[in-house]
Amino acid sequence: MKVLKFGGTSVGSPQRMKDVAKLITDGERKIVVLSAMSGTTNTLVEISDYLHKKNPDGANEVINRLENKYKQHINELFSTEEFRQKGMELLKVRFELLRSYTKDLFTLFEERIVLAQGELLSTTMVNYYLQEQGVKSVLLPALDFMRTDKNAEPDLPYIKERLAQQLEANPDAEIYITQGFICRNAYGEVDNLQRGGSDYSASLIGAAVKADEIQIWTDIDGMHNNDPRIVDKTSPVRHLHFEEAAELAYFGAKILHPTCIQPAKYANIPVRLLNTMDPKAEGTMISNETEKGKIKAVAAKENITAIKIKSSRMLLAHGFLRKVFEIFEKYQTSIDMICTSEVGVSVSIDNTKHLNEILDELRKYGTVTVDHNMCIICVVGDLEWENVGFEAKALDAMRDIPVRMISFGGSNYNISFLVRECDKKAALQSLSDQLFNN
Ligand code: ASP
Ligand code: MG
Repeated sequence: MKVLKFGGTSVGSPQRMKDVAKLITDGERKIVVLSAMSGTTNTLVEISDYLHKKNPDGANEVINRLENKYKQHINELFSTEEFRQKGMELLKVRFELLRSYTKDLFTLFEERIVLAQGELLSTTMVNYYLQEQGVKSVLLPALDFMRTDKNAEPDLPYIKERLAQQLEANPDAEIYITQGFICRNAYGEVDNLQRGGSDYSASLIGAAVKADEIQIWTDIDGMHNNDPRIVDKTSPVRHLHFEEAAELAYFGAKILHPTCIQPAKYANIPVRLLNTMDPKAEGTMISNETEKGKIKAVAAKENITAIKIKSSRMLLAHGFLRKVFEIFEKYQTSIDMICTSEVGVSVSIDNTKHLNEILDELRKYGTVTVDHNMCIICVVGDLEWENVGFEAKALDAMRDIPVRMISFGGSNYNISFLVRECDKKAALQSLSDQLFNN
């Protein structure tokens, strides 16, 4: 069985929902994971924000606007009175629930319920539409099987067992529709897998049912070897190793949520990225196979801050790095890149919320310098250290660009450069020219 996930833009309008319905009805049994219609989760965040600020009028205004939009969607989506009615009843239930929070206490617990409404709406709508078209489709409620444990990590054995029961209970269905993103936590409360989490849901479901393939459908044409918005002449990458995809997903290539990689990788299930606007296109296949001797792609991540700690105390000392890292840990700030020398260490971070406190504590251990507005340029491919020539090629492309840090050897698939944001375009273009276009 395959697991197919469609993102917010792929179900972003009644017409798009109809396109998806057509795409998934080919007679093959499958599980279809849907996001909320694009924009809805953001609107639900806005509603929660008003409620946290104890402004029920503000919340109500946004709720009314959202409901009107959905009423139009229902009218456009369905062609029979029976299903229009069902659609309107769905809205009644969902929006009454939303309104109930304008009159009552609002905490993080209620917020998660509010955020879950987008996926509950989109999946029910598509399920009804399929049924209206005569397709044997059933809705599998994610809140009945998707669960996280006490460490907020997915509880795969539970997910496996519950999902198997639900599939067994509906043996005749052709299509199983379910919600991405939403889950219950270890205490049974409604929760979610964080923003953009629907890819993660699809990967977990794929792993749980031992799917043949997980397909992530977006409105972009697979992963490209560079950012098509920034450089000339990019081309789609046909195949990536999971680790290459993980680096790219984290460093800028928005197409796949980074958390999605692990469950599929461990279960050894290939993930295919496909384009709803061009369903016949080959897309990008991600698996545990490496293509030998190839550099695959380049991606960039902005808003990076570099911090250097230089200290003569580091010379011949042990435990220096631990002390430095503990400061970052204390302020829950994760480090992306690290470079060390015998007398100093440079790290890069993207979350500067506690920068001042961090710098303050670091100064106990050495002289600290900070560079803002930096950018990580990440090159992925078969970069195993025993291969010769690739690092040199990547470095050569950076010949005219001031490079603040270089990191190589952390994985077999990556070399990263830290440059100024203002040099990002030049760096990406030069890498593209040297690595892919000659
Ligand atoms: N609807 C959620 C979000 O917008 C989850 C997702 O689309 O993946 O973040
Ligand atoms: Mg080498």
